[in-house]
Amino acid sequence: MTNPEEKTIELDGSQGEGGGQILRTSLALSVATGQPLAIERIRAGRAKPGLMRQHLACVKAAAEISGAQVEGAELGSQSLRFVPGPVRAGDYRFAIASAGSCMLVLQTVLPPLLLAGAPSTVHLSGGTHNPMAPPFHFLERAFVPLVRRLGADLQLTLRRCGFYPAGGGEVEATIVPAVGALQPFELMARGTQQSAHAECLAPGLPRHVPTRELDTLGGAMGWSGEQLRFGTARQNEGPGNALIATLAYEHVTEVFTAFGEKTLSAEQVAHGLVKELRAFQKSEAAVGPHLADQLALLLALATWQSRKPAAFTCSEVTEHTRTNCAVIERFLPVHFAIAESRTASTVQVSSA
Ligand code: AMP
Repeated sequence: MTNPEEKTIELDGSQGEGGGQILRTSLALSVATGQPLAIERIRAGRAKPGLMRQHLACVKAAAEISGAQVEGAELGSQSLRFVPGPVRAGDYRFAIASAGSCMLVLQTVLPPLLLAGAPSTVHLSGGTHNPMAPPFHFLERAFVPLVRRLGADLQLTLRRCGFYPAGGGEVEATIVPAVGALQPFELMARGTQQSAHAECLAPGLPRHVPTRELDTLGGAMGWSGEQLRFGTARQNEGPGNALIATLAYEHVTEVFTAFGEKTLSAEQVAHGLVKELRAFQKSEAAVGPHLADQLALLLALATWQSRKPAAFTCSEVTEHTRTNCAVIERFLPVHFAIAESRTASTVQVSSA
């Protein structure tokens, strides 16, 4: 299994944050650059180490769009060899049988398909609103506008919500590469606030759950009336619960999500979200912690393609963001400079 043209990138999957993000970013960039990948100690420090069903779905999706040769793509495997062929635009269907997040499969195939020679459509099924993964509404409102700012396009349609443990969500994605190189940008300030609202998805749950979550959130944030909404999800898409806050600013939209759990009261779910919203509002940064690690990859691709620098500010530099930047630097000739500050940390990416 060799690709004589390219040197294999060898990674320790337990480095830094040590989670699934290392795997997804390295698969995405292996396909985008054509460099083979050898990764050991995948999720070694996690309670259930190695590839879980959702990670395996990402490996298979990355292999399908590139005709890759793969060794070690099995449940529980802690080592993977992945030799990609050229990325192929096309019409794809990727399903996660469990309630694992299908949004993470999109996170894996999106970067290479953004660089393909033609548009692609991707039909995804699995979880659409999962803890520890980008929820559909976050991608649609916060992430998509940033993809468009690079000169490419991503259109997302939610056909059906999928929550843990039932799954069964469905999303259609259309990915349109930029004409020419992706264009990097600077996103240093969020600008003035244009609007703020929350919606509560609670299919299959009694009405008092979303009512209490919205009331608690509204009370704490000083939001009322039109700003507090019952989201639209069919009863049979549940049971599930996501409380989603959308803050639209002049230069960026941010989305924060809290998930209901059996062990949490509706009030605790709302307070968890209030904490995240306050932390972001207190900072002066353009983006929050999750958008930061996802934007780092988009801007690195654009800097690589156009050889122009890019930068953004974020409210928090998480271990996720640091690890993602370190993995990106292994694949692309780019360099990240991170300057932390209490009010707004700066992440700059330039050609190495
Ligand atoms: P990992 O924990 O390594 O599997 O990576 C999780 C990915 O999901 C990272 O890119 C996170 O930024 C992203 N993520 C987790 N929670 C959220 C959230 N609430 N909103 C948006 N993105 C999220």
